[in-house]
Amino acid sequence: EIQLRGVHKWYGHYHALDDINLSIAPREKVVICGPSGSGKSTLIRCVNRLETHESGRIVVAGVELDHDEKRVEAIRRDVGMVFQQFNLFPHLTILENCTLAPMWVKKMPKKEARQIAMHFLERVRIPEQANKYPGQLSGGQQQRVAIARALCMNPRVMLFDEPTSALDPEMVKEVLDTMVALAGEGMTMVCVTHEMGFARQVADRVIFMDRGRIVEEGTPDEFFARPRTERASLFLSQLL
Ligand code: ATP
Ligand code: MG
Repeated sequence: EIQLRGVHKWYGHYHALDDINLSIAPREKVVICGPSGSGKSTLIRCVNRLETHESGRIVVAGVELDHDEKRVEAIRRDVGMVFQQFNLFPHLTILENCTLAPMWVKKMPKKEARQIAMHFLERVRIPEQANKYPGQLSGGQQQRVAIARALCMNPRVMLFDEPTSALDPEMVKEVLDTMVALAGEGMTMVCVTHEMGFARQVADRVIFMDRGRIVEEGTPDEFFARPRTERASLFLSQLL
């Protein structure tokens, strides 16, 4: 579903992604972790073209990301993204947040877009908030709206960038529960997260990044019980 081959990315002189090779199969769940600044966000932002890479190949859902803007549009349709800061449109209601992209990008009729939006708001268990504005919701509720909004586009892949790290502790669980449910439905998922309980529960593979490189990868059991590098051991010890 997602392939990266020899991908490099620079910010000026800073080598943010250094020879990334990664293949993610359809329905696979991958958790990416690693220290701050290791390139985790950069990596997943390259996958949906919020950032461009300088060399190497990235293929998503059969489409190679290059300079053809049409392909970027195709990728954005197939790949949903959820950010640390929920990025909802503050001046639109929850329902309008969810119907905007289906109506404008997919040209879906309003009635159908609203039905689909309500379906996903029910799935994330907040249909009663549909007519409120983001500012009237808790952080956990807003993040569940962000997930529902992404799902309304019927993506093949969902990317999450630390979706729970801006939340108060008591709201983390409701968002993780939503993500666990989604994982159970066979969505391809790539999650940058330090929620190791989540990683153990749903990840097929954990990827550890350091200084722009993939330093380790393995099943959650392998990675947590027997990290192979000192860098990963140190990282894990600091999480506890
Ligand atoms: P965190 O855990 O703090 O979110 P991260 O692993 O997601 O970190 P990235 O955001 O991918 O790290 O950043 C990797 C490196 O690239 C960092 O050193 C960062 O300062 C740098 N960087 C990120 N975005 C930019 C940018 N737009 N311009 C210049 N440098 C950037
Ligand atoms: Mg980041």
